[in-house]
Amino acid sequence: MTAAQLVVVADTVHTLDPARPHAQAVAIADGRITAVGDRADVGSWRGKDTEVVDLGAATVTPGLVDGHVHPVMGLVLTAGIDLSAVRTRGELVGALRAGVADAGTDVRGGAWVRGWGLDPNAFEGAPITHEPLVAALGPDALVHITLFDAHSALVSPRALELAGITGPREFRSGASVVVADGRPTGHLLELEAVDLVGDLLPSEAPEQRRRRFRDLLQSMAAVGLVGANAMDFEGDSAELVQAVAQEEAGLPIRLRFAPFVMPQHGRDHLDHVVDLQRSAGRRWAVDGAKFMVDGTIDGGTAWLEEADTHGESTAPFWPDPAEYTAAVEFLTARGVPTVTHAIGDAGIRHVLRTVAGLSTRTGPVVPHRIEHIETLPDDLVEEFARLDVTASMQPTHCTHFTKADHSDNWSRRLGKVRADRAFRTRDLRDAGARLALGSDWPVAPFDPRAVIADARLRRTAGRVEEEPVLPGQALTALMALEGYTTHAATAAGLGDRAGTVRAGARADLAAFGLDPLRADPDEFAQSPVHLTVVDGSVVHRA
Ligand SMILES: [Zn+2]
Repeated sequence: MTAAQLVVVADTVHTLDPARPHAQAVAIADGRITAVGDRADVGSWRGKDTEVVDLGAATVTPGLVDGHVHPVMGLVLTAGIDLSAVRTRGELVGALRAGVADAGTDVRGGAWVRGWGLDPNAFEGAPITHEPLVAALGPDALVHITLFDAHSALVSPRALELAGITGPREFRSGASVVVADGRPTGHLLELEAVDLVGDLLPSEAPEQRRRRFRDLLQSMAAVGLVGANAMDFEGDSAELVQAVAQEEAGLPIRLRFAPFVMPQHGRDHLDHVVDLQRSAGRRWAVDGAKFMVDGTIDGGTAWLEEADTHGESTAPFWPDPAEYTAAVEFLTARGVPTVTHAIGDAGIRHVLRTVAGLSTRTGPVVPHRIEHIETLPDDLVEEFARLDVTASMQPTHCTHFTKADHSDNWSRRLGKVRADRAFRTRDLRDAGARLALGSDWPVAPFDPRAVIADARLRRTAGRVEEEPVLPGQALTALMALEGYTTHAATAAGLGDRAGTVRAGARADLAAFGLDPLRADPDEFAQSPVHLTVVDGSVVHRA
């Protein structure tokens, strides 16, 4: 055996390889795991250039893979000051002032102040207006804040003026400029309205955008992620990922992209998506296509079998769902894996029927996935395993945005029966489904420690006072870890070479201070992350 380049040693290695579930040492060369063994084996693996990293009491697992993120689109949505922790108007004023001071933004000189992640509940029941923006930065500041749902914005009076917004507007979509006493409040709802000011924002310099992209991926590596399924390959994604991949250190984590297919896209676009499947570089590749069959429960745009309590969420995102089916058939026949956002029961049913009816399923198996799966009727639970469709779910959407007592908007719109079928992670696992877990960043934070904890707790990690949402849907510690490792790998058709710690597999590892299978989930959410290894290279070391 050739000498190892890197040997990682720890008291506990959970390999997730049934042939050898426990180990204490892992040898790596040329991006592959070359041997798995005990501390006593390390001597025989060692050459003169071998680096041995002994992590003592730490726990090593296969590296974690997020099932669903938007790393490129998220760069725009998360530009500027992070306001996601703001809970009051006073905190908003303070956070804006601190952010401007930290960044040295020249507010008087006309520089834009940008923020993101603001929860409208920070207004504590008062009307949502630009008053705190003026209080923080003065009447002449140009301020643009993206609210937490990424579908609305709050802008300053000067920004409204620059965009020529002086009163209500008519839009083709359901967008609106919110007004009070005939005057715009600064609150802009939905993209057509948001874009009136958004289009005035200076585009980011390419170097800065590249730096923020790299920093984002590096912060993902720092919490144990070795890869992510990226749902955006639009705009400048290709140039951005190529630029960072070509730097000496390369991408901090692996990215697997799925470009969008929209209803208005024609056959030419499908051909283009097939062509894109050849795009790849070091640690990244296009491998799949992303569809949506509906929108969101909260926005009244999901596709439900019966209307919600507002009489909404009855229409598919594809005006003719048969065209969606035809597009999936077309791509499957060409070996392109599909990923479909389906939140409502009717939407999920349509995707499952589409996969069940694929004439091309007898050829090489093309992996299909359904994303989100927010309200799932009983008769569809077993279909995932039967049709070999991966369920890809985001446990923090349940724990952050719904409540056990159904007092939240999502639950009220669905009513009790359908809200009681929320985010059925455990039922799907018990029915034999493959369940990939993820965050949908920037919709929710990407930290997999917290997602794993919430998947086990069915409430927000660290908030013991919160009542769990449908605790019967809690995953075991092992199921949660599998959602980020073995199941994530199989979902991508990589079950034979990733997701486990075993000789011959990709050398992608994570090392935690606390054992994800034995630690209390609230504590694991805070666990140190000692080491992340991607492709045999140390990409993060605490
Ligand atoms: Zn998403």
